[in-house]
Amino acid sequence: MTVASIRSGVGARVDDVVRSDDAIRVSSADEVRAAEDDVARPVEDRTADVAVIGAGPAGSSLAALLARHGLHVIVVERDRFPRDKLCGEFLSPEAQEALRTIGCRDNLAALAPPALTRARFTTPGGFALAVPLPGTAWGLSRIALDTALAAHARACGARVCEGTVATAVRAAADGTRIVEVARAPGDRAIGRGGAGASGIAGTVRATLVVCAHGRRDRLDRSLDRPTFRRTTPFLGLKRHLRATDDDVGRANFAALAGSVELYVFDGGYCGLAPIETGAVNACLLLHRRFIAPLADAAWPTVLAAAGRANPALAARLQGLAPADDTVHAVAQVSLHFKDRGNALALFAGDAAGMIAPLAGDGQAMALGGAVRLADLIAHALPGAGSRLDDDDRARLAAAWNGAWRRAFGGRMRLARALQPVLLSSRAAEPAARLAAAVPGAAAWLARATRG
Ligand SMILES: Cc1cc2nc3c(=O)[nH]c(=O)nc-3n(C[C@H](O)[C@H](O)[C@H](O)COP(=O)(O)OP(=O)(O)OC[C@H]3O[C@@H](n4cnc5c(N)ncnc54)[C@H](O)[C@@H]3O)c2cc1C
Repeated sequence: MTVASIRSGVGARVDDVVRSDDAIRVSSADEVRAAEDDVARPVEDRTADVAVIGAGPAGSSLAALLARHGLHVIVVERDRFPRDKLCGEFLSPEAQEALRTIGCRDNLAALAPPALTRARFTTPGGFALAVPLPGTAWGLSRIALDTALAAHARACGARVCEGTVATAVRAAADGTRIVEVARAPGDRAIGRGGAGASGIAGTVRATLVVCAHGRRDRLDRSLDRPTFRRTTPFLGLKRHLRATDDDVGRANFAALAGSVELYVFDGGYCGLAPIETGAVNACLLLHRRFIAPLADAAWPTVLAAAGRANPALAARLQGLAPADDTVHAVAQVSLHFKDRGNALALFAGDAAGMIAPLAGDGQAMALGGAVRLADLIAHALPGAGSRLDDDDRARLAAAWNGAWRRAFGGRMRLARALQPVLLSSRAAEPAARLAAAVPGAAAWLARATRG
């Protein structure tokens, strides 16, 4: 395995993986490449209307929209682009609509991501339920999506400071907010000559701070968010696979055309989706009870166990071999409801609440949420240099909280209720048969988990 940045490897002891506080990142060395000149320029002016923490789908989209509105936006991002990320890489039709509003859909459509028009669920007993999707989804890699969105934010006028980790947010005496930032540990200085190329350290001062740092980070602890203390038993794993050059490989690759497939088993599931690179993304969500008895949480061990738990998955994986050396793993996949704002900052994307991954809607919520939040912020900050007093902040936080609940609360609850059903071998089979027997039930579920 080529490992460029690894805090705890996929081959590490199961306990280490499950107990890890935050994401375990395992990246190939190829992911770290030279960036454009403007990426490398130092940020002399550390004052902004809006500081955004995190350049994932939520943060970059929000930054792009606010910069287009005329605000001065600084984004701090721990990683460097292009970078990959653990995800099922199923980009729903709703996500694409949001991308259109954000102004980035055409760039991504040009990559010709495979069109996905149905989902197929297969139970451990081999019962398969095919559900037409309410629209055409894409199989699109996160390396492509996140890199394009960060570049788009920059093109719209936002400053994106890569290799920079936000460690705390505090209020200044004049009412503005201060983000404490540091060079990300292990960040490589890149760019021509390396001058000024590394992440920034010190502070960023902003009228408003939006934390779009994903589902869990030490930043939550510094912001004293109650959900940080709540641990969860879920682990995610992802790897890209390629068809071997034989009949089985070709047949299994061809069978995946147009579909996202979900193979459920007791304690987890594995999603398979073709993506624009010609690979198949394999992404697993696993409960601790599934991995605890295994010798280790290494990819071959986990995949073999998943194949034993769902023989149809083992059959589908025949002739699909690893496309590269990179495996991504994250622990602490939390589905708890979270606060969407406090006196210091607003929260967006997974930082505001993460939907159960089986819904394939997290990116749509990150993008669609950014569109909604950008509207509210544009109203509160009509132009560069606008100020906010405590009442303005409270009104903005309340408006965002209400908008978020109306847009996403229902689907979060439904997906959270469905997840234990799918992860139980006893419940998944009858549930899938029931959904197949009741006309329209499966299609309704596919719609309802995406608003
Ligand atoms: C197993 C699994 C499968 C999934 N499958 C799908 C799927 O198929 N389809 C789908 O739509 N969704 C899926 N999701 C959900 C989806 O990945 C998330 O909802 C989405 O990534 C949320 O985007 P975001 O911008 O909020 O956060 P993220 O994508 O997590 O981005 C957060 C960014 O913030 C940066 N960051 C974090 N902390 C700091 C800090 N302190 N300072 C600076 N930067 C920081 C990170 O480096 C990262 O770039 C899945 C999730 C899991 C766990």
